[in-house]
Amino acid sequence: MNDRAAKRGVENAVPMDQEISTNWTENPDVAIVGAGSAGIAAARRLLASGLTVMVLEARHRIGGRTVTRRFKGHPVDLGAHWLHAGPINPLVKLGRLRGEPLRRAPVNGHFFVRGRPGTATERAALDRAFDRADRAMTQAAKAREDQPAADVLPPMGPQGRRVAAIHGLVSGRPLDEVSLHDFPSMEYSDNLFIAGGLGAYVGRLAHHLPVRLGTAVHGVDWSGEGVRLETSAGTLRARTVIVTAPMAVLQREAIRFAPALPHPVAEAINGFTQGVYEHVILHWPDSPFRGADRLASLTGTHRQPPGLLTRIDGTPFHFFELDQPTASSFDRRDAHAPYRYARAVLAEQFGHRAIRHLAAMHGTAWRHDPWSRASWAVVPPGLYAIRDSLKASVGERIWFAGEALSRAQWGTAGGAWEEGERAAGEIAAQLR
Ligand SMILES: Cc1cc2nc3c(=O)[nH]c(=O)nc-3n(C[C@H](O)[C@H](O)[C@H](O)COP(=O)(O)OP(=O)(O)OC[C@H]3O[C@@H](n4cnc5c(N)ncnc54)[C@H](O)[C@@H]3O)c2cc1C
Repeated sequence: MNDRAAKRGVENAVPMDQEISTNWTENPDVAIVGAGSAGIAAARRLLASGLTVMVLEARHRIGGRTVTRRFKGHPVDLGAHWLHAGPINPLVKLGRLRGEPLRRAPVNGHFFVRGRPGTATERAALDRAFDRADRAMTQAAKAREDQPAADVLPPMGPQGRRVAAIHGLVSGRPLDEVSLHDFPSMEYSDNLFIAGGLGAYVGRLAHHLPVRLGTAVHGVDWSGEGVRLETSAGTLRARTVIVTAPMAVLQREAIRFAPALPHPVAEAINGFTQGVYEHVILHWPDSPFRGADRLASLTGTHRQPPGLLTRIDGTPFHFFELDQPTASSFDRRDAHAPYRYARAVLAEQFGHRAIRHLAAMHGTAWRHDPWSRASWAVVPPGLYAIRDSLKASVGERIWFAGEALSRAQWGTAGGAWEEGERAAGEIAAQLR
């Protein structure tokens, strides 16, 4: 591991596009807890409806789990990077309207077997295994009671391990811990990227919104009229509140509700498990991959990365992705263990000579960040209804929003945006 490069990378990293308004309205119609995708979408929608809004954000930056930083002059996303499910993703639709620099994600990835390009036959075998798995899960989800997604996977021969690993990565947990009914709802087939990073784009969408940074909400009192918010900047009042804090944060009771939330709502919040997906950001100018933005399947070796995105935006930067079991295995080890792991896996595939100019720049740890605690919320088998259980308002004063509530686009910035707009639309209709 190149420790000095990693340290330098973090030091050079600066948040991008953070122009917000400090012109706050006291006692607004709506207080919004959290300035991530859901909170920004809600604020825009409410302001467009003529209501007054104040966004309260615990961190000293906006964007939540979307954030772009510069490494060696290049913008790199530390959180969300893909615009998934293009045809239904509201951030794609809005990006097109705004003339944002969207580009399609390539569909053909690289395929290597122990350091050599795989043959057409080997590639076709993997593609067939994916098709079989997808068909089995989609059909079973239509026909059967909820159960672990892993239980309906057909036998897939030697390819089975890779298929399960990739689905486990994008689900946030191994498939035996994921609801079958949650699995097929997300369309991965039509993806886009945005030049300059998704975090920077979400930041642009927050321009001039009234956001109070460094303002953590610790309590929501809805015992009287409206809501009273206990925050690190004192007590604030509003007529209603939208809470977009991640489920894993709410589970730790970072926000106390008085009176307590109704039992079904509290139970839904506590039903989610922590989805884990972490980037190790690699700078690898002479990597064996050609072209921009292509996923690489590295097979035939003992250890295989479930996700490797190569030459992001045509730069020397690559994402080496860590799934939940791998990331968790580093939890009691030193901070550089993920970098050593990424190097060891790539050396096993391509040899030590091929990685001599590879530098690990940064490893994310969203699962330990007190304001995220996870990459996204996962629904365990048997609890598929919990996303919907959070959609109704609590006493017509508290709404929840965020990626966890989206059924069609769970775990994504687009899903969070959609849910922020939904909650805002309901409040606008009520307050009007
Ligand atoms: C490494 C990684 C990769 C990912 N890749 C993708 C991808 O490629 N594509 C994709 O679409 N999605 C991806 N995701 C998921 C995506 O980032 C999230 O689903 C989405 O950004 C969540 O938006 P949100 O508004 O629901 O929550 P957040 O973005 O987490 O926003 C919630 C905000 O609330 C704030 N907050 C929390 N508690 C409090 C409090 N008590 N008081 C005040 N503020 C509080 C937080 O600081 C945060 O800013 C990825 C996530 C990670 C971590």
